[in-house]
Amino acid sequence: MKILVINTGSSSLKYQFIDMANEAVLAKGLCDRIGIENSYLKHTKEDNDAVVLEKSLPDHKTAIKEVINALTDSELGVISSMDEISAIGHRIVHGGEKFHDSVIIDDEVMNAIRDCIDIAPLHNPPNIVGIEACRQIMPNIRMIAVFDTAFHQTMPQYAYLYALPYEIYEKYGIRKYGFHGTSHKYVAQRAAVMLGKPFESLKLITCHLGNGASICAIDKGRSVDTTMGFTPLQGLAMGTRSGSIDPQILTFLMDKENMCVKEINDYLNKKSGVLGISGVSSDFRDLHTAAENGNKRAQMAIQVFCYRVKKYIGEYMAVLNGADAVIFTAGVGENNSIVRRTVLEGLENMGIEIDWDKNTQKAQEMDISTPGARVRTLVVPTNEELAIARETAKLI
Ligand code: ADP
Repeated sequence: MKILVINTGSSSLKYQFIDMANEAVLAKGLCDRIGIENSYLKHTKEDNDAVVLEKSLPDHKTAIKEVINALTDSELGVISSMDEISAIGHRIVHGGEKFHDSVIIDDEVMNAIRDCIDIAPLHNPPNIVGIEACRQIMPNIRMIAVFDTAFHQTMPQYAYLYALPYEIYEKYGIRKYGFHGTSHKYVAQRAAVMLGKPFESLKLITCHLGNGASICAIDKGRSVDTTMGFTPLQGLAMGTRSGSIDPQILTFLMDKENMCVKEINDYLNKKSGVLGISGVSSDFRDLHTAAENGNKRAQMAIQVFCYRVKKYIGEYMAVLNGADAVIFTAGVGENNSIVRRTVLEGLENMGIEIDWDKNTQKAQEMDISTPGARVRTLVVPTNEELAIARETAKLI
């Protein structure tokens, strides 16, 4: 069985084509700048170098066609016709309260995903465009929707309700949903394998620290709380997102800086976070270079980021009444030993003790705690595409 995994953004489309017999990635790539000039397709076949092809990509349907062309190309391709695609797994950002699990896409599911546009106006429309384009080009291939929110649907109501009048929850569905669910579940399940214990017996705190960042408290295999909220803006400070702030700042800023709704949205989503504090970059590699050269704001941005991660680990230790393991994943969580060190230092009283030499080893699945540590601290590279492919294979 060969599965195509598709992750559509507003102007991009990422794909991986996976052979489920051995979970090998046969090909992967990215269509970028869809709908804008200078669009291109970057395609990698197996272990070969990536090939960048300049292509006119006016819309997502053309992009999907180019992906199929690349996959079936005599040189770049890995299959002879698109009939060899067994199924397609689509990453969908928001499933609202309707989706607790992945589903086979039919008309009813499409309508339900459309219903979620209201609460995910930035994220769901491109996902829907991606599914529709695939349905037009490959009407006979089964498709599965895998939701970022689904894993968090087990949160208790006291964790997901905001302290706002209850009517707005009923009227607009304003509540915490949480995101990155596919990643949190994947690394938590890997952690259970590494610890040699059933997933359903463990208390875990998973820290997905990438450009977007969130932490999840998992009790016996179920998400019981997470830092992102109604949107992916809540919680940790991120690359360009503010994370949680005093909500009154919004009205203050809108008043003082004469900002409209779109401007304040851009300000909080694209100009804040570690980029906003440092004025240097949203990328932690750039931040460290600047910090080492004495840039005080870059140093402060890293500190603010790490302090929040530490606080939420403490919060979730309280929620779970202790934890079996804390897990680090995604770009920063997997690769950045300085961030991990800054977060993890001084948590001995919580049972977290780190072997600092192991902490600096190259990213791979590893236990970086000391042999006697009460709480295990693990680094687990995430693989959302593989997780989506597995869900897709399971459902078909
Ligand atoms: P996204 O949310 O866009 O998927 P990633 O998980 O790729 O983000 O994380 C991006 C962040 O990870 C950047 O701040 C970058 O500095 C950091 N990062 C990624 N790879 C490495 C690496 N090999 N070494 C150090 N930092 C890395």
